[in-house]
Amino acid sequence: MAAITMRNIVKRYSDGFQAVNDVSLDIADGEFVILVGPSGCGKSTLLRMIVGLEDITSGDMIIGGNRVNQKAPRDRNLAMVFQNYALYPHLSVFENIAFPLRLKNVPDAEVREQVAHAAELLQLTEHLDRKPANLSGGQRQRVAMGRAIVRKADAFLFDEPLSNLDAKLRGQMRTEIARMQKRLGTTTVYVTHDQTEAMTLGDRIAVLRKGVLQQVGTARQLYEEPANLFVAGFIGSPPMNFVPGRVKDGQIDTPFGTVAAEGPRLSKVTDRELCIIGLRPEHFEDERLVAADVRGRGKSFSAEVDVTEWLGNGLFAYVPYEAPSEVTAQLEELERELDSEQMRTQLVVALDASSRIRAGATARLWFDPHKMHVFDASSGENLTRDPDRVFEEDDAFEVVSSSPGSASASVPEDGKHAAPE
Ligand code: ATP
Repeated sequence: MAAITMRNIVKRYSDGFQAVNDVSLDIADGEFVILVGPSGCGKSTLLRMIVGLEDITSGDMIIGGNRVNQKAPRDRNLAMVFQNYALYPHLSVFENIAFPLRLKNVPDAEVREQVAHAAELLQLTEHLDRKPANLSGGQRQRVAMGRAIVRKADAFLFDEPLSNLDAKLRGQMRTEIARMQKRLGTTTVYVTHDQTEAMTLGDRIAVLRKGVLQQVGTARQLYEEPANLFVAGFIGSPPMNFVPGRVKDGQIDTPFGTVAAEGPRLSKVTDRELCIIGLRPEHFEDERLVAADVRGRGKSFSAEVDVTEWLGNGLFAYVPYEAPSEVTAQLEELERELDSEQMRTQLVVALDASSRIRAGATARLWFDPHKMHVFDASSGENLTRDPDRVFEEDDAFEVVSSSPGSASASVPEDGKHAAPE
């Protein structure tokens, strides 16, 4: 197993297009890191540079302490697990797993021992005589991983392995992969554009946009403390609502009323004529369901609800909304990149399932201003973010260092801070 360190990695294709722009990222030995971002952001290019299938224009790729920029893929000892598993249909599970050992003419007794070991880890022992056609999708994925295990690869690299499976199988496979990675403890880099996979699978997530690393952190850090508008809009479903605001003399004007810029987060924001306020759907509630002593902490307002969706464990209410011209340019770009059509035309609020709010009526809604994010309207930077916040619930990996000037790619070395209120 090995740590993977990327230092100022750049990829410029022969036509001059820069697909990866100065990416620095430390992946600890045994860590499971997800590379995520919209189509074309450079995640596959980065993965292919780790494995050696793509030349590195500049920067250093360090695997297990050695610079590997000039090393051929076969000399990097990494295992790429593909979407279609690349199993040989005419070979048994045993021979599929044994394949890399057969290529190296490993003696029979040793092959048997290694395949048995991998099969036991992957709970495939009883299926060793079967052909791949007689296995479930999950079992096939495990056979592909078995092949990587007998190779004693230093790291597993996955490129969108679940993208052509149906939703149910995808869910099953996701848990399988998470379970196997924990059991094996092998350094893993996993590329996806699916934010559910990103949120649920890895130890940390690295978000890429147009070849530039935006933020690296646990799912909680990215969700609760997004570095900018892009990460805030990308992580979370339904996405965060964005509305214009103004900060003046300790007050923040929002389309839902004026709130005090108080508390550790909001008090950091200095006066500005225009900012973008971000509120997640679950930070709203049906006013009638908010306890009287809590209601005063937030802000109530009336809204026309045109559609509701009751899901048993909650209720989504959609509020038609026309984003004012000052913020349409930013939101339009964000919509395009995130492939999300309705950021400028509606607000989504997630209410308690017991809410009686119905479509076609005026509803009294409530929101908690302390949960608001405030973004700079031109740079998109999150002005309310606490970059050092680490959540007690997250297992932080010890990462040796990160290069200055790039998005912070390491967890703080002093372990865990208490989360602020
Ligand atoms: P997807 O999720 O769609 O696979 P991705 O994030 O993995 O996207 P990459 O495949 O890494 O994106 O591509 C990043 C960018 O580099 C894209 O804009 C792509 O068009 C461009 N690109 C990829 N290969 C080449 C090439 N050989 N020459 C020029 N540009 C390329």
